[in-house]
Parts: sequence; structure tokens; C-alpha cells
Amino acid sequence: MNSIISEHRFTEVELSPLERQRYARHLSIPDVGLEGQRKLKASRVLCIGAGGLGSPVTMYLAAAGIGEIGIVDFDRVDYSNLQRQLLHDTSDVGKLKIESAIERLGAINPGVRVKAFETRLTSENAAKIAAPYDLIVDGTDNFQTRYLSNDLSVLTRKPNVYGSIFRFEGQVSVFAPHLGGPCYRCLFPNPPEPGQVPSCAEGGVLGVLPGIIGCLQANEAIKLILGLGDPLIGRLVHFDALAFRFREIKLRRDPQCAVCGENPTITELQDITFACDMNPSPSLPEIDVHQLKSRLEVGPLFVLLDVREPAEIEVARLDGSVVIPLGELPARLGELDPAVETIIHCKAGGRSAKALQILLDAGFTHVCHVKGGINAWSAEIDPSVPLY
Ligand code: ZN
Repeated sequence: MNSIISEHRFTEVELSPLERQRYARHLSIPDVGLEGQRKLKASRVLCIGAGGLGSPVTMYLAAAGIGEIGIVDFDRVDYSNLQRQLLHDTSDVGKLKIESAIERLGAINPGVRVKAFETRLTSENAAKIAAPYDLIVDGTDNFQTRYLSNDLSVLTRKPNVYGSIFRFEGQVSVFAPHLGGPCYRCLFPNPPEPGQVPSCAEGGVLGVLPGIIGCLQANEAIKLILGLGDPLIGRLVHFDALAFRFREIKLRRDPQCAVCGENPTITELQDITFACDMNPSPSLPEIDVHQLKSRLEVGPLFVLLDVREPAEIEVARLDGSVVIPLGELPARLGELDPAVETIIHCKAGGRSAKALQILLDAGFTHVCHVKGGINAWSAEIDPSVPLY
């Protein structure tokens, strides 16, 4: 495996006496040495997302002496991030994530250039942002950005170090068709339909899991830069934290792949439409939280149906709501009276839309759901309701 950093880039790089001290434990590994540390210093890594995965990835890459770390993120730090996103601490709540990331990474290693892009990665800006970087680390939590970062990496021939996490499980791989192996689209040609997978924020994740998976991603990034070992190209490692089991799955390239196949149909970046927190069907009747507030003030002439899971109800609940988790709804329709209006809500609006469709299919006519769910209620109406 050759380094992805070309020789003329790192041979000119010098290390100061202080840097030699800082990286002493790298310099004393024969396979790394001064040349390896020069490669790290000459390299530029773009990390998409400054959240659960982006935290360990950028912190370890900064500590390792990567020359430049780019971070793309437009979000602000929220209390619910602190359980796993160690780039940010309690005093950062409300700040832009890139602001706390710059501070944190600067404190870890002031010798590293940190370039922050306060934006959502889009087909318009992605190529320009990624241009100076040698590899991309996918630390995203949504399908739009995941497909975009995959296509970006294939089209610009930059390795894409992929990681994903859900509850107690995580996955990591390196997608780099130009170095062999498949891309993400070879495995999953198309994004799932909204509703087939739990919405981004609704599934939950064990706090240490992004730490484990993110460190594995940082490890792969460093190996690609150093040109050492066997990168996770053509292999996907699945980690089950509860069973404590790593499973390796061999991956094959799909010759029919739309982006890296023999006759690609995707030759320039495109935004995919995958509505995660949005209403999957715009035609479904919905109200916003302000309308819900007025309706509640007038009086409970309707049933407020909450379709979240019991563990979520314990975190936050609106007064007077009736709870039927989405999965139980088809079997428990008899508990609802079609003659009485039903207003459905969930956490962010995804599950309530599905519940609404179930009721419409069952012949209910007097139904609607709440745009943005209980999180919108917390953000816009009553901050005493915990945002989670
Ligand atoms: Zn492919």
C-alpha cells in the first residue's frame, strides 16, 4: 500500500525541535519515523460533520499532527450532543459546532491548521470545499450527505473513510474505487425510502460507540496517509458492542454501480432527496406547534396521539396525550374513535406522518399531524419540555 501523499509533498516538510518532541512516540516506530510524520504534516483531511464521529476523528487526527483538518458543519451544540460529542463541552451549548471544534482542536495541537466550513454539504459547494483535501472522512448522520460524500469521493478520486453508528452497533469501511474495492453506492444503490429506517435522531446511540467507530476511522485515515498496513478497502467491519463482536464482511464492486461502475450515470454531483425529519408526503394534513398551542387553549376537543416509544415518553411528554407507539398502532386502532379528531405527534414529525397514513388508510378522515413534533414544541413553545 502506497501513501496517498505524493513524495514531492512530504519531502519538503520540516519538523521543528518541539514537533520532534511532540511526536516522539511516532518517530520511534520504525514504520512511521520522521518520513511518516512528514507525510502526516503534509496531509489534509476533510471531515464531514463535527458530531459523534467527527469528534474522535478530528481530535485524534489533530493530536497525530495532520497538517490541515477541514470540518464541514452548520449545526449548533445542543445539550443532547454532550453525551458523545467530545469536541464540545457544556459551556459550548448554543455555539456553532465549528466554533467549539476550532477551540478544542487548537488546544490539542496549535500546529494543526483547522479550516471550518459553516455550511451544509451540497452538490453546489462539495467539490470546491473538498478540492484541497487528500481524503474525506464521512462523519455524517444522514443519507443526503452520506450519498453526496460518497459520490464526491468517487468523482474526485479521494478515499472516503466511512463510519456509521446506531444504538449499540457501528460500521466502518474505506470506499476508494480508484484504489480497488467498491463505493457506498455499490452496496446501497439508492437511499432508503423515508420511513424504512428510523429517523436520524429517533434511534438513539450509546455514547461510547461513536468514540470506538470514530477512532477506527481515524486509524484508517492515518494508515492511508502513512501507506501502512491493509486499509479497509473492499471490507466492512461491523461492531456489536453488546456481544462484543467484530465481524468482517467482504465487499464486492458492482459493475453496474451508477457512480463507480463501467457505465456510470452519475457523472456530476447531485443532491438526493431523502427527507429524514421532513414530512414524507407533502400532501398529508399537518399543523405547526403554534396552531397546536391555540387548539389546546381552546379546549381538548380532539385526541392528542403520541406515537413515540415508552422510553421517550419518560423523557418528555405533552399533557393529556394518549400514547400508542407507532409499531402498535395498527393493532390498537380500536382504541381511537374516528368520529373524534385525532392530532398526532412524535419527536420530529417522521413517525407521526406514518401514523397519520395508517389512520387515513383505515378510513379516519378527521386527522392531522404536528410538524416538527415535540422537539419543535420544546424549541418554539415551551423550553421546559426537554429537547432530546
Ligand atoms: Zn460504486
